[in-house]
Amino acid sequence: MQQTAATTEKIELMGLLPQELADVLASMGVPKFRAAQLFRWLHQRKVTDFSQMTDLSKQFRAELQQRFYINRPNIAQRLASSIDDTVKYLCRLSDGNCVEAVRMVYHHGVTACISTQVGCRMGCKFCASAPLGLVRNLTAAEMLGQIDLMDAEFPTEQAVSGIVLMGIGEPLDNYEEVLRFLRLLSCKEGRAMSLRHVTLSTCGLVPMIDRLAEENLPLTLSISLHAPDNAARSALMPVNRKYPLEELLAACGRYFRKTGRRVSFEYALIRGKNDSRADAQRLAKCLKPVFPKMRPHVNLIPVNPVGENGFQAGSAKQFMQYLSEEGVNATVRRTLGDDIKAACGQLRRNAIENNTQERIG
Ligand code: SAH
Repeated sequence: MQQTAATTEKIELMGLLPQELADVLASMGVPKFRAAQLFRWLHQRKVTDFSQMTDLSKQFRAELQQRFYINRPNIAQRLASSIDDTVKYLCRLSDGNCVEAVRMVYHHGVTACISTQVGCRMGCKFCASAPLGLVRNLTAAEMLGQIDLMDAEFPTEQAVSGIVLMGIGEPLDNYEEVLRFLRLLSCKEGRAMSLRHVTLSTCGLVPMIDRLAEENLPLTLSISLHAPDNAARSALMPVNRKYPLEELLAACGRYFRKTGRRVSFEYALIRGKNDSRADAQRLAKCLKPVFPKMRPHVNLIPVNPVGENGFQAGSAKQFMQYLSEEGVNATVRRTLGDDIKAACGQLRRNAIENNTQERIG
């Protein structure tokens, strides 16, 4: 149908970088300063509709409306923790799909944990999103939108100041849009956020780690390791069959040499699977050569039991002790919002299971 074709040809405005926006507008005969004005409306004033752009003429707004659309997720559900300031959002995208985002308050600022895909195809055995598979990639605009909808609820001085890409999805499986998101986030005309305040977490897609290294961004790369040998890791994370541990760790070494940024490691403790003294010894042995002369650092996460997999959390305190005996530093990830199931993927999964589409936030 003509109507549909015309609609799908519209350009998503929020995903354009400043220069791209200037170029598209220039092709419509619009002067450069208008592009800057429009970018500010979108990324600093965070409007949801063209009608809010009050210093642009009605005719220009109508023209924009014809060529472009503003794609912002809205809040399908909101869960506020009663034990800390954590708020978890189920964000509804324009096509009705939902993803999760979490706003966490630390003494040094506010961190948003956001999703990069609707679902995931990596199939990690402990993860709530794995059984549902991948539906689609998120656009850069939809990633930004998750942060914007949080900020809209709080005073400016409590705006999000750090981002972790640890929500639903594998960021390096959606490389182009994640990179676009990072560029939009850090550009001076937008949020101007330093990428030093951004952590990208990956299950270990080796070629993409090498590609990211070439971009030379100051973000923190975090590897979801979760096991100290190939047999155990392949059993938990199918990606390990394609990119085994030694190749992954070699890529981490290359990443460090190229960017000068030390990679961090996540380790979800699962009782009886990866939490023994022997596991700690194996872990120390494989991590020590990655960054010579530096003590490796591991973030321990007691696994969040999900669905029917029967996994139980291992003791982080005990494992930390084992690791310290081996010369490896470890911290235990603070579990925020325990009462609201802040483990990513669980809210979306519950929503799909209950088929709840109504707004209750
Ligand atoms: N795909 C990326 C980012 C999303 S998951 C990655 O694999 O890193 C964010 C982190 O939560 C990862 O370290 C992931 O392994 C971990 N995780 C997923 N499910 C978990 C669970 N049930 N308990 C504890 N950590 C979990």
